[in-house]
Amino acid sequence: MKILSAQFLRPAALFCLFMGILAISTHQRIYSRSWHEPLQVSVFPINGDGTLATHNYIERLKQDDFTEIDQWFQREAKRYKLPVHTPFKLTLGKEVKSAPPVFPGNAGVIRTVLWGLHLRYWVFTNTPDSDSNLRRVRMFVVYQQGEDDVPLAHSIGLQKGLIGVVNAFSLDRQTEQNNIIIAHELLHTVGATDKYDTMGNPLFPVGYANPDRSPLHPQRNAEVMAARVPLSAYSSRMASSLRSTLINPVTAREIAWLEDPD
Ligand SMILES: [Zn+2]
Repeated sequence: MKILSAQFLRPAALFCLFMGILAISTHQRIYSRSWHEPLQVSVFPINGDGTLATHNYIERLKQDDFTEIDQWFQREAKRYKLPVHTPFKLTLGKEVKSAPPVFPGNAGVIRTVLWGLHLRYWVFTNTPDSDSNLRRVRMFVVYQQGEDDVPLAHSIGLQKGLIGVVNAFSLDRQTEQNNIIIAHELLHTVGATDKYDTMGNPLFPVGYANPDRSPLHPQRNAEVMAARVPLSAYSSRMASSLRSTLINPVTAREIAWLEDPD
């Protein structure tokens, strides 16, 4: 009898868990894309390599380092005549002293789903949920010194759960590029998709800041969901700062800044 009830209870508990997550995700999805008031974003730094240099970099971080992101979103929101003046409001939170679960890459659907549940549990234990978490994005920025010419692990922005995990360099000269990645992952959390090919070059025309430019190459700016400036059909360079990056109408439609033409 005990075994029978356990067999019944386990799927029932899992069902309730999934339904709870679904209800929260739906609420977050609708709220986060309404654009009538700023979407709050808490940035939690993490020392990703345990070095003193990264520790010192995190100690030096200040609210002002993220103001550029707020201002860039303000500039873009104005171009799209959004009702809200400041679509995202970033606040520097406390350092989190534990590392998030590592994304399994292309390891199949089941491992990815399990990783997603593990990540949510990790987020919950490190920044306990409250009502406000239904209405804010939590960005965990894992800082590390890195090695020359070795790219960092992929950053992730999840629309379900309004969670981002950004891998960033703890180097002063990289702060501007870290901000591009934070803005890129933030846009994933509200529905934007990547716009680059398997080699990392921007897709034409959706990954271009100005696909109508003549001559087409080299472009001057980057589209934020491609994050690179196209130099030719097969080459590109990383954008130097958010100022040289913009949100094109394809991304604007994905995040409900523009209505779908139909
Ligand atoms: Zn991306």
